[in-house]
Amino acid sequence: MSRDGEQVIFIVENDKMHFRNRKLLQTLTVAVLLAYTILLVYQSFSTGVISHENIELHPNDEKIKSFRQRLQRHLSRDQLGDSDHLQNLENPATISPNLSPGEVTQVTMRPFTTSLNDLFISVKTTKHFHKERLPIILKTWFQLAKDVTWFFTDTNDEEFHKMTNGHMINTNCSSSHSRKALCCKMSVEFDTFIETDKKWFCHFDDDNYVNIPRLVDFLSDYNPREDWYLGKPSIQAPLEIINKDKSSQKVKFWFATGGAGFCLSKALALKMMPVASGGKFISTGEKIRLPDDVTMGYIIEHLLKKPLTVVDQFHSHLEPMKFIRRDMLKDQISFSYSKNKEEWNVVKIEGFDAKYDTNRFLSLHCFLFPETRFCPR
Ligand code: UDP
Ligand code: MN
Repeated sequence: MSRDGEQVIFIVENDKMHFRNRKLLQTLTVAVLLAYTILLVYQSFSTGVISHENIELHPNDEKIKSFRQRLQRHLSRDQLGDSDHLQNLENPATISPNLSPGEVTQVTMRPFTTSLNDLFISVKTTKHFHKERLPIILKTWFQLAKDVTWFFTDTNDEEFHKMTNGHMINTNCSSSHSRKALCCKMSVEFDTFIETDKKWFCHFDDDNYVNIPRLVDFLSDYNPREDWYLGKPSIQAPLEIINKDKSSQKVKFWFATGGAGFCLSKALALKMMPVASGGKFISTGEKIRLPDDVTMGYIIEHLLKKPLTVVDQFHSHLEPMKFIRRDMLKDQISFSYSKNKEEWNVVKIEGFDAKYDTNRFLSLHCFLFPETRFCPR
């Protein structure tokens, strides 16, 4: 073979090698790409699983904590069996073999709400205040709780009987501001509640505005089968009185101001019956010679040894209403108003002219529920 022929063969052989190398390189690239894609898919999948476990099962997770608190409040022990399940939720490692993570998720999802129909709302009023104080209530918050709100008064008033759809109750108590008359009304409010199948008793004065959805939402965090006395004191320290029965012993207790409103769970109200039902609320009030709300505190805190749970969202006119921040109004449960000499203590909110809406309840109502028919749009 000539030298030229050798050279041709060499060039052809060289080309063949280049071609094989390129093929090998291409195959390798495809393989690497494929492996990388599989890795990516796997990673994203496994991350999802881990974050899911974090949400549902991590012991320090806020969700678990708040769920546990809610569950403790809502479920009485007999419903839950025992507290082991709660322990298990805190420490998922100890979840018993027959309680799979799926079941835990099911429990955390369980809705536990109180509805408006579980409430009994009583408003203390008197014949002198019907025309002055009731119309604004009837126009505003009563509309959101018509069926569960009752007015406890001291006369038969046909006009308001109609306007409230028969929800005026004549207590036949005296129409004075005396301690006895006020305890008499509270006594009838209490007895009327006991006769219902409602889970919560909430008392208000006729100068209160009640943020109904907020109240319902708030109560749904508490179990009415447990003893709950929810309200706000108006004094800085517990009240101290002398118990004349027991060799002038000092008695200290907190009470929720009636003018801010307060709520009692059914369980607690039932326990109060021996000292509060069938008119006994009046004799207990007479014994300590103090007003209705103080008597309530005496019975619950001192006689039954059940503590008041302070709820800051209840407001009486003993506090300056203007200090409730506008962006906090929605979270509050009750408001009030008063006039001291020429000065009004009212919620600070824009809206209707003060001439037409002196106590600011109309404006407050439109702020909270702007869809209301009479509210400007
Ligand atoms: N009240 C009553 N009989 C009276 C005076 C007042 O039942 O003779 C009621 C009134 O309707 C209100 C509560 O007691 O629900 C408190 O009355 P008010 O706001 O006039 O006085 P406060 O105690 O708040 O200063
Ligand atoms: Mn008042």
